[in-house]
Amino acid sequence: MFVDYTRECQYKIGFLPLDTSLYCSTEKYKQCPFYIAINQSGHVCKYLNQCPSFEHFKAENFDDFVSIAYKYCLSEKNNNNCKRFKIRKRGDMPALDLMPDGSMFK
Ligand code: SF4
Repeated sequence: MFVDYTRECQYKIGFLPLDTSLYCSTEKYKQCPFYIAINQSGHVCKYLNQCPSFEHFKAENFDDFVSIAYKYCLSEKNNNNCKRFKIRKRGDMPALDLMPDGSMFK
């Protein structure tokens, strides 16, 4: 499971997220935001494929990334409250470091 899904994942997202063993090698893999995005197995923000933030969030703590992804990128209810989403929707490009809650990534 780890080999097949992780290989596919790296091919699609271009990097290996840190601290993902809890997801990649257990039944929890279906809850991984990347798995959901790649398989479209739930709501996925329409800007996700062009959103550098989705990769950006990987940097520190994968659980934090999961929490942000679920709160905005994979949330049908809250997706359009993402600050990046609002900027994209009006046709502009948000700053690379802008987080969905409006704070700046450090
Ligand atoms: S950060 Fe915002 S714009 Fe980017 S994928 Fe998530 S919800 Fe969509």
